Amino acid sequence: MCPAPLSTAAGSVKAGPTEPEKGVDPGALETLASLLELAADDRWPGWVELSQDVVFRHLTPEQRRQYVTEALKAGRDAAVRYASGPRAGAMAGNGTDDDALAMTQSLATTLGARVQVANTAPQAAGITIRADYDPSRRTITLYRPAIAQAAQHLDRLLPGQWTEAKLMAVHLAHELFHHLEAVHEGPVSHRLPPVVTFRLGRLFTVRSRARRCREIGAHGFARQLLDLPLFPNVLDWLVLAAEGRCSVRDVERLLLQARAAWEGGPDSA
Ligand SMILES: [Zn+2]
Repeated sequence: MCPAPLSTAAGSVKAGPTEPEKGVDPGALETLASLLELAADDRWPGWVELSQDVVFRHLTPEQRRQYVTEALKAGRDAAVRYASGPRAGAMAGNGTDDDALAMTQSLATTLGARVQVANTAPQAAGITIRADYDPSRRTITLYRPAIAQAAQHLDRLLPGQWTEAKLMAVHLAHELFHHLEAVHEGPVSHRLPPVVTFRLGRLFTVRSRARRCREIGAHGFARQLLDLPLFPNVLDWLVLAAEGRCSVRDVERLLLQARAAWEGGPDSA
């Protein structure tokens, strides 16, 4: 189900120059610091996420803000509701990354989800899948080699900050939200009005749901649950940057465009 490639995000990110393997470019560090600051505001990466939805171009700017805001709230509220009490401390940065992973696993079990770890890294449409949720079996699968590889990539950009255990916890939390949608809460996309995406005369219309709102909710849930310093979809883009498939500057530019669009500037769509 996720993550989505940056290359499809608003069509605005192209393959950029590969980050240098060695040596620290002060300009690149500045860009990275700016990017991390932007990524700490959920609205901009949330906007980018929604911009990948087929309904995006059919929404007014006000509706786009509403859909992102509502989806973020759904994720955050669920994290507060389901993770209050003694386990909150361990997941809110007071423990180790292993603690956070263990507590997220414990929460998943409490909420009726089965968690399994696979030693494969499946691909779909050219994207390596790191985790998924099967609602028919209520099972979350974490693909350890894919997550470990992402952690290695992130370590090159942000040394020591994103361990394999922490990334496992992030992906588990994300999929746990999809479990909550499936079993307890209903899809976030169904809490928002359907969008008319095709109209033929007065009699025939096609309405679609903003499915990306489910991803925004899941990212918001993971961030709140684990007290993350940034909106988690940005990690996917940073992995692409570390792989040389786009640049850090591309990611920063994408978030700047989203902020400008949110605030009424030129639209990023
Ligand atoms: Zn997802």
